[in-house]
Amino acid sequence: MSFIQPRYAAAAPRAAEEAAPIVIVGGGLVGLTAALDLAQHGLRSVVLDDDDTVSVGSRAICFAKRTLEIYGRLGLGARFLDKGITWNTGRVFHRDREAYSFNLLPEEGHEYPAFVNLQQYYAEAWLVEACAATGMVDLRWRNAVTGIDGTRLSVGTPAGDYTLHADWVLACDGARSFIRNTLNLPFEGQVFRDRFLIADVRMQAPFPTERWFWFDPPFHPGQSVLLHKQPDDIWRIDFQLGWDADPEAEKDPARVRARVAAMLGDTPFELEWVSIYTFRCRRMQSFRAGRVFFLGDAAHQVSPFGARGGNGGVQDADNLCWKLAAVLRGQAPESLLDSYDAERIPAADENILNSTRSTDFITPKNDAARAYRDAVLELSAQHAFARPLVNSGRLSRPFIGYGLPAPDAPVLRDGAPDWLLRHLGRDFCVLSRGDAPATPLRAVTLGSDVEDHSGLAAARYDLAPGDAVLVRPDQHIAARFRATDAAAIRAAHEACLR
Ligand SMILES: Cc1cc2nc3c(=O)[nH]c(=O)nc-3n(C[C@H](O)[C@H](O)[C@H](O)COP(=O)(O)OP(=O)(O)OC[C@H]3O[C@@H](n4cnc5c(N)ncnc54)[C@H](O)[C@@H]3O)c2cc1C
Repeated sequence: MSFIQPRYAAAAPRAAEEAAPIVIVGGGLVGLTAALDLAQHGLRSVVLDDDDTVSVGSRAICFAKRTLEIYGRLGLGARFLDKGITWNTGRVFHRDREAYSFNLLPEEGHEYPAFVNLQQYYAEAWLVEACAATGMVDLRWRNAVTGIDGTRLSVGTPAGDYTLHADWVLACDGARSFIRNTLNLPFEGQVFRDRFLIADVRMQAPFPTERWFWFDPPFHPGQSVLLHKQPDDIWRIDFQLGWDADPEAEKDPARVRARVAAMLGDTPFELEWVSIYTFRCRRMQSFRAGRVFFLGDAAHQVSPFGARGGNGGVQDADNLCWKLAAVLRGQAPESLLDSYDAERIPAADENILNSTRSTDFITPKNDAARAYRDAVLELSAQHAFARPLVNSGRLSRPFIGYGLPAPDAPVLRDGAPDWLLRHLGRDFCVLSRGDAPATPLRAVTLGSDVEDHSGLAAARYDLAPGDAVLVRPDQHIAARFRATDAAAIRAAHEACLR
């Protein structure tokens, strides 16, 4: 079964002037995630998208564990697991032999794997459905933002223009962000001088469901190749082409077929999608301009090596939405929103650093870098010390600068197998072992609410009897307490809302 690209009806203006508390510009992966998250916090939003469909063609495919946990909290986790291709292992080949392999989730006892491969359009289509089901998201297709003044938006539709007065704007309008450009906000970083060809092919192939990366393989000498399995018997092959490649000539289907055939030998295949990409690593200086917040590719961009773009953007939404909800409910001062910048800028920098290092290894910039890379690859086949230096992409990991994301663990609920993260919810909660301290916060107690039958929950949180942790609404651990008292927990909770 192939994906059938949906076409959504354009929304006509309802009035020449309208007002809405929260307007999300861009109904892509990140904007839709933010809308669903806000809805689950009880906040309505208007989402404006200039297009009439979800992501077209081959873009994000690798959804990381942390993103899957966020989608689990938002009620979509099972869909990702059912449809997506689960993988934990990556293999790196140099010329005709394996140089290195890695397992990104070597331990058991987590609901979600290290990664699920899934075409971005599936994720977005499910988000559209989930947003609609909340009844809280006013999703307006073919509503292009054509102007911004403060938080007053000019919107163009096929049936005419209107003005939307927002209290808050979430700019999720992608790498070429109209909002960022119109507000003349700097977006600085590095352009990489290399080109990559994406060939998505449909085939029945015996390769295991692992990430395979080749440096200088016999079928594509001097360059790199990446292979990933996706649902619907589709495989993503990325061929490095070099900066001098002619992008138009390289998209010629006959030429692409020849490249793929050289790799696959006799395996029959059909070409599903062909595109060429180049990339940059850059970010805005601040992700907030007054009452306008920037999320996802609008705020930061990375190379695809490491799958940090979409995954990073989903974590932006995860970070901002509960804070906006707390401020709008009057539970926190507006200054809490400054912590979005303080927390997500270092996260973006970590993604940019890792993505840049991978790209520098894959595309060495000078003779010395190339000699280093080739030596590392040669040594890695024989010597363990060289293997961690091989860099074909350091894959997306959650940022831990504002507390570790709460680890999952298998538990029993009323005797039936369950997962701990499902019980932490979307508000602050106190996870404790033994008696829960008396606070107004939701309590999840190992031993009474859920049974920690394997002991993994206590071990992963280092909870001795009487200990507790305070978990934020985005399921990051905010504070830990030994032999805790309720006053300490209340103080930590208050500190999180400042
Ligand atoms: C080849 C490739 C492979 C990738 N692989 C991965 C991967 O494996 N994992 C991963 O996590 N990431 C990956 N990414 C990155 C990922 O695709 C992006 O990070 C992600 O799409 C960003 O989502 P977004 O919502 O911020 O922006 P977008 O997806 O670009 O969405 C922006 C939305 O805003 C709308 N819009 C734009 N301007 C306006 C306007 N003026 N008015 C109204 N609407 C507007 C657009 O129509 C669009 O719907 C990959 C990217 C590429 C190119």
